[in-house]
Amino acid sequence: LANLDGLTQIPNRRRFDDYFAEEWRRHLREQEPLALILIDIDYFKRYNDCYGHQGGDDCLIRVAKAIAKIPQRPADLVARYGGEEFVAILPNTSTEGALTVAESMRKAIATLAIPHANSEVSQCVTLSLGIASLIPTPDKSTEDLLANADRALYAAKHEGRDRAIVYL
Ligand code: GH3
Ligand code: MG
Ligand code: MG
Repeated sequence: LANLDGLTQIPNRRRFDDYFAEEWRRHLREQEPLALILIDIDYFKRYNDCYGHQGGDDCLIRVAKAIAKIPQRPADLVARYGGEEFVAILPNTSTEGALTVAESMRKAIATLAIPHANSEVSQCVTLSLGIASLIPTPDKSTEDLLANADRALYAAKHEGRDRAIVYL
C-alpha cells in the first residue's frame, strides 16, 4: 500500500525512487543499458479548467491504467511520478526498444479518445514523452539519466507535443 499511488493505484513516486536506485546499481554491475521514459499529459491544466478537478482525476486514472499495461517484461515498471506526469523504467533496454514502448503508450491513449476540447494539438487527450537510455558508469548517477529524459520531454513539448523524443 505504501508503494501504490492513492488515486491511480499504480506504483507511486516512492516505489519509483527505490526501484530506480536498485536497477541502477544492478545495471552498473552488469553493464547493461537502463532506459527511462518520462510521460506528461498535454495541456492538462486546461483539461481541469474545462472538465473540473473530478474530471481531471478520472482522466489521470484512465491514462495511468492504459500506459501501465503497455510494457511487457516482468522487470518493467510504470509509476506516477507526480501530478500529471508518469515514468517508466525499462531494464536492459536501448533507446530503440524504449521508443517502441513510448509509441505504444501514445497510441493507447489516442485509442482511448478522451475528449479534450481545449487542447491545442488534438481533440482528444495526448501525451508528450521523453526517452533516455544509458549504461551506468561510476561517474554518473540516476540524476543524469533522469535529466536526459527530462531534456527529451522538454524537446517533445517544444516541437509541438503529442510525440515521443529520444535524448541523443
Ligand atoms: P503542458 O502541455 O506543457 O504539459 O501543459 P500542462 O497544462 O499539462 O502542464 P502544467 O504543468 O501547466 O499543468 C499541470 C496541471 O495538472 C496543473 C494541475 O492542476 C494538474 N494536476 C496535477 N495533479 C493533479 C491531480 O492529481 N488531479 C487533477 N485533477 N489535476 C492535477
Ligand atoms: Mg507536467
Ligand atoms: Mg502536462
